[in-house]
Amino acid sequence: MRDIDGKTRVIGIIGDPIEHTGSPAIHNFIAEKLGDNVVYVPFHVKDRRLEKAVEGAYALDIDGLNVTVPHKIAVMQYVTELDDAALSIGAVNTLVRIRGGYKGYNTDFSGFMRQLDSVDMQVNGREVIMLGAGGAAKAVMYSLQKLGAEHVYVLNRNVDKAKENFGKAGNVTVLGFDEWKQIPSGKYMAVQCTSVGLSPDDNDCVISDDGFFELVDEAVDLIYRPKETVFMKKVAEHGGKAYNGLRMLMYQAVSSYEFFMDREVPGDIVEALYHELDS
Ligand code: NAP
Repeated sequence: MRDIDGKTRVIGIIGDPIEHTGSPAIHNFIAEKLGDNVVYVPFHVKDRRLEKAVEGAYALDIDGLNVTVPHKIAVMQYVTELDDAALSIGAVNTLVRIRGGYKGYNTDFSGFMRQLDSVDMQVNGREVIMLGAGGAAKAVMYSLQKLGAEHVYVLNRNVDKAKENFGKAGNVTVLGFDEWKQIPSGKYMAVQCTSVGLSPDDNDCVISDDGFFELVDEAVDLIYRPKETVFMKKVAEHGGKAYNGLRMLMYQAVSSYEFFMDREVPGDIVEALYHELDS
């Protein structure tokens, strides 16, 4: 247990609900390892109090906040500055204290990119299948485009919503799940960004047709509970490599911590953190 004294800084997370968040454990682990005099705490913030919560945090001299469901979009109207990537993605999950207020960042996309890098998955020039079109998918699409994906096939239940979110890009094709056979034969990277298969619905998979999995040679499922989703099992059964989203979760937290504290988290601490989270 770290000592709290008059110089202890405060960072935290706002959301509703917030009780199940794993972020305090991650950030406090890093702070302890680095010997930073900072504590990370959860704040339960209802929609109607979001603006006051952000103003209040600034008044309380809080250095930074993570932002989770349901505030990632609404909070954008209460920031003093917005990072370009967060603006393009259309969501903020990190508020960093600056003069006069907070600057909004999105570290879900950088977390995803750092996960790909850590497992040596190359996107440049690849054709990718992305399943889902919600908030996480927006951060993933931003990353895929930034990393130079050749073409992205988006499969989603609500096709109109997916077209609205991604349909304007020239290298994106939007399809319904039952239209996957329109994807030309070949080998693709797949990113599973829907919430289907999330614990406790461990036996669910957004697409069940074995033929689909013949197309996939490497995949990330953003879900990390359970550790191995049905989607991941099916990719592996068809000879592909599949990773869960634990590293993305960890790296988005690490990137936020680096913004909050304006220092890099060394690789050995990141690996120790990963083992802690994965145990
Ligand atoms: P979201 O904005 O609510 O989007 C949910 C997505 O799942 C949408 O594409 C939705 O399709 C689809 N979906 C939900 N129920 C479905 C069903 N029964 N059948 C087919 N599609 C269904 O949620 P999100 O924030 O993007 O999160 C998505 C997942 O990513 C969650 O499991 C979350 O835990 C995970 N995530 C992980 C990380 C990480 O760091 N690893 C970060 C963020 C999110 P429609 O558009 O048709 O509704």
